[in-house]
Amino acid sequence: MRYLVLSDVHANLEALSAVLDASAGEWEQVLVLGDLVGYGADPNAVIDRVRALPVAAMVRGNHDKVAAGLASVDSFNHVARLAIEWTTAVLTPENLRWLAALPQGPVAIDAMTEICHGAPWDEDAYLFDERDVERARPSLARPLSLFGHTHVPSIFRIEPSVEAMLPVRGERCRVPIDDGRYLVNCGAVGQPRDSDPRAAFGLLDSDPRALTIVRTPYDVATAQTKILHAGLPAVLAQRLALGR
Ligand code: ZN
Repeated sequence: MRYLVLSDVHANLEALSAVLDASAGEWEQVLVLGDLVGYGADPNAVIDRVRALPVAAMVRGNHDKVAAGLASVDSFNHVARLAIEWTTAVLTPENLRWLAALPQGPVAIDAMTEICHGAPWDEDAYLFDERDVERARPSLARPLSLFGHTHVPSIFRIEPSVEAMLPVRGERCRVPIDDGRYLVNCGAVGQPRDSDPRAAFGLLDSDPRALTIVRTPYDVATAQTKILHAGLPAVLAQRLALGR
């Protein structure tokens, strides 16, 4: 099976549309790793677009959880809090219910692969470096764990020791997976934070196992204008151009 891997769309419809255009014909089903909403100006349109896709598996993210009223906003910084309160206010009742019903990760795709938002043992934990991944090691149930949440494309080989295989650069980065165990973040669709403003996504082929991290430009200016017109914090528009 060929999968499109989407994470951290964050209500950025322009980025999601560009990813779907750039990947057309390269996948059959979609894996969604959470944070469909928060920060961006199109939460309803993004949810509607994702709901129309052939999704094989999906997990919720921390922003989805807070928007749906399942978690406290207390863990959010000031800007994230303003954005999620705006998001909750504009989401339709139907989309709020749909968000609230999203499963908590990890979710198994097949015998080889699982997906989560933050980390396999805690959907809200961040996996930035080898020390973080070392903590995740005991909870890895399958050879390939795909995660999101940090908005930074990253590849960690787990055995024989935890090793970051960085940097992930270029328009198409073939992840050098062999028979070993890996934790991979294919990056954020809607708010990249690795200084590359292009939308990031993954293409996973389950047989033979192959994974590619892809970058594609999108209409950043329109996404920024919508954020400003919505009255969301200007920094959320500015950071899209920087990829930070
Ligand atoms: Zn996120």
